[in-house]
Formats: sequence, structure tokens, C-alpha cells
Amino acid sequence: MLKNSFKIGSISDIPIKLHISFIIALPFIAWAVSTNIEMMAELMDISYSNMVIPDYILGLVIVIALFISVGLHELGHSFVARSRGNEINSITLMLLGGVAEIKEMSEEPHDELRISLVGPMVSLAIGLTLILVSQLISNILAADLQFIVLYLGQLNVFLAIFNLIPAFPNDGGRVLRAFIARKRDFLTATKIAVSVSKVIVFIFGVIGFLYGNFILILIAFFIYMRANQEFQYSKIKNTLSDLKVKDLMSQDVTHISGDISVKELLNKMLHRSHSGYPIIEDGKLLGCVTMEDIRKIDPQKQHNVSVREIMSTDIKKISPEEDINKALQLLLEEDIGRLMVMDGDNLVGIITRTDIFNAFKIKQIENRL
Ligand SMILES: [Zn+2]
Repeated sequence: MLKNSFKIGSISDIPIKLHISFIIALPFIAWAVSTNIEMMAELMDISYSNMVIPDYILGLVIVIALFISVGLHELGHSFVARSRGNEINSITLMLLGGVAEIKEMSEEPHDELRISLVGPMVSLAIGLTLILVSQLISNILAADLQFIVLYLGQLNVFLAIFNLIPAFPNDGGRVLRAFIARKRDFLTATKIAVSVSKVIVFIFGVIGFLYGNFILILIAFFIYMRANQEFQYSKIKNTLSDLKVKDLMSQDVTHISGDISVKELLNKMLHRSHSGYPIIEDGKLLGCVTMEDIRKIDPQKQHNVSVREIMSTDIKKISPEEDINKALQLLLEEDIGRLMVMDGDNLVGIITRTDIFNAFKIKQIENRL
């Protein structure tokens, strides 16, 4: 789901990744933090004149340590999720915090409650511990170190509180949904939680606007988008829950040989309305070519380039007996348009996002009648 990130290591078999936005933003956030250090030190009652480390280095240390704290928060979610039988894909640290990618998040309210609550609890525990440590040994620690420990403690407490605001996709929003889902069905619970999110987003937006706080407006917008997305996704999942891949896949698959030129394929595409073509040779699926692959080729070269040269060989497959929700999840996770439906080694169909969204629209119309 998250492209443009790379792995930096793994903890207890969970890959930890850095998103490119994090790398780009790091020097700027460090600089933003460094400009406030004198003021923050004064607020914390730490003598700025006793501090020897340059502000910018302090800012950098604090930002990196903050992101490690975010990583621990996400690890908290991940460990509890795993103990409840969920599989963890990875943890990605990005500009606006972290994301633990949990495969097929549990819809059991009790599980969701535990998984969502543990992250903020981890942050709160780290925060309070650091604040306590900074107070207990304030005479022993150098001013710089005391500043770092106390500042990080406060940031972690802030992280816990911010995440508990009951708005999707924040942990607080999930906690709220889990509470409601104890009495109502999952979809209704999501609907109510999303409505609450929108009210909060609206308040954020208004405050941001009144005080000219652009960051607050940005956060409001981000939460709004994600809340809506979450709601749409649960609606689709709910509506299509009893369908299988074989019910929606198109069986009328036009496959091609790898030897034809891109130009020939384009001519074929004009007559058939598919957007993706599997390449099969000797009964074996070698790859798939899509409109996007072709678009990368210079129009002048369409005659000379063969389909084999541009096909993608990283084929995502699914069995015809799988649930539609599994297919949708895979499409979103991998950020791709289509899956090859394979019965053993045989290609039996293709299922696309469009197939699934059309089915959803039809079901909605059906249910309204
Ligand atoms: Zn969290």
C-alpha cells in the first residue's frame, strides 16, 4: 500500500521501513525544532546558557528519537495484533507518524479495542517514564541531556493524547468504533465513528482557520480523507462479503504471445476493451502488459519494441475460490489494477478493481429496490 519506502531492518520478524517523505522532511523538522529550543528550555526551567550542544544537532537528535518513539508505538499495535492472530506486513515510519500494516485487521470489537489502545498506552508509558527520569536525576544530568529527555517525554505524552482524539484513522477513532460495535453491527459503528470524525475535523478546520494555523487545517483535511476512505472500504466489504472471486472475474481473457510488437498490441486493444493482457507461452503465464506499461514507451519505438520487453513479470495471483474482499484487499495493498485468477497453474480469469466497484454499485442499487 505504501510505495516509496525502503527497509532499514526488522524487529521480531516485522520489517521496519522508512518512507521517502520521512527522509525529505527530516532536516526541515529538525530545523523547525531547533529554532524553538531556547524558548522550550525556558518553559522547562532548564538553563539555556548551560547547554553546549548546537541547537541544530539537538533538533536532529530529538526528531530521530521521536520517530523511534513512534516506531515503538507502532510495535505496540503490532505485537498485540499478532497475539490476536493477525498477520503484520510491516511498520512504515513516515512524515505524519507511523503506520503498522496489519493484514486483514480484526473486526472483532474486543480485538480492535485492545490493538488500538495499546499504541497510545506505549507512548504514554514512555512519556511519563522520561518525564519522571528527567526530574529524578536533574542534578546529575547535563542540561542538554535533561532537555532532550524531558522534551521527548512531553512529545510522547502529546503523541498519546493526539492519537486518542476520536477521529479516523487515529487510534481514538478505532477505539470509539470498537465501543459502538459492541452494541451495533460493524458497518453502523463505522458510520457513527466517521460522523464523529467529521465533527472533529470541522472543529480543527475552524480553529486552524481562525488562528491561521495551516498545519491544523492540513491535519483536518488528512483525517477527513482517511475517514471517508475507511468508511467506503467497510461499506464495500460489507456489501460484497458473500461473493467469491469466480463470481466477478472476467473469464473472457485475451492472451497474447510475447513476440508481438507494442504497436500490434495497441491495434488489438482498439478492438477489445481489456486494459490488461496476460502473456502465455507453452501454456505458462509469463507476465502481463497493461496500458500503463505501454504508455512508458516512446511512440516512435512502438514498432520495434516487443511486448516481452515491457511486460511486468511480478504477477499477483489469486484463487477463484477466494473471497472478493481478499481480492480487494490485495489490490489495495499492492496498489495495482488487476489480479490474475489462477486455478493451479492455469489462468482462468482476470479480476480488476473496476469489476469489484461495478459489482458494489449494482448491489447497492439492488438493495435500494
Ligand atoms: Zn497508533
